[in-house]
Amino acid sequence: MTEGVRIGLFGPPGAGKGTQAQILRDRWGVAHISSGDLFRHNLKERTPLGLKAAEFMEKGLLVPDEVTIDIILDKVLALDKEEGFILDGFPRNTHQAESLDEALDQQSRGLDAIVHIELPEDELLRRLGGRYSCRQCQAPHNIELIPANGNGQGTAEDRKLECEQCGGELYQRADDSSEAVAQRIAVYRNETMPVLDFYRVREMLVEVEGLGSVEAVNKRLLTALKRG
Ligand code: ADP
Ligand code: ZN
Repeated sequence: MTEGVRIGLFGPPGAGKGTQAQILRDRWGVAHISSGDLFRHNLKERTPLGLKAAEFMEKGLLVPDEVTIDIILDKVLALDKEEGFILDGFPRNTHQAESLDEALDQQSRGLDAIVHIELPEDELLRRLGGRYSCRQCQAPHNIELIPANGNGQGTAEDRKLECEQCGGELYQRADDSSEAVAQRIAVYRNETMPVLDFYRVREMLVEVEGLGSVEAVNKRLLTALKRG
């Protein structure tokens, strides 16, 4: 059996990592490991991990490494060795990147690439402000793209807040409030951006422009990875 692709999706909150990860997962039949989804799932089930993570997520801060690293590495290392995976939202600081690198190295299943999806800040703010997520499957939606019911107001109440993929209810995440969004962008700049250098010096970085439609970004991504 040939080995599946192993990539990380990297970029600011709102860049479209979750959306692209779901498309690639279906296309390649690989695992999708999203740290944010994992925390939200645990919160929904009210596990100790979920409750702990929520304290940080709601403020737009990173969940501490002691909580995050083991959980994600366990998920990755539990996969069969030839199974591919897409990491989404991890690593988010240099310590996480080093821990991941070490764990994968030990098993000779290093990442093929880290894809950096880039987006200007005004577009990030616009997207996160309008983001509604599915309670069931976590798929992100943009409120502006959901057809209005007909009374023409274009507000959230005027739209059918139903997931396109599974029919689940759409809701606005607590960390998509404007204060939390500003904090998440600051955390991205200060703690997460340095991870780019970690992969740049290892020549693993693939740059993709995040502006435009979901399909356009996906096409660029596949081309950049030479898998189009
Ligand atoms: P986004 O990329 O839109 O910010 P995510 O769903 O990836 O959303 O993450 C939501 C929140 O979960 C983050 O703001 C952070 O609090 C927490 N989180 C996710 N991944 C990590 C990580 N690798 N390390 C620490 N905290 C994380
Ligand atoms: Zn759904």
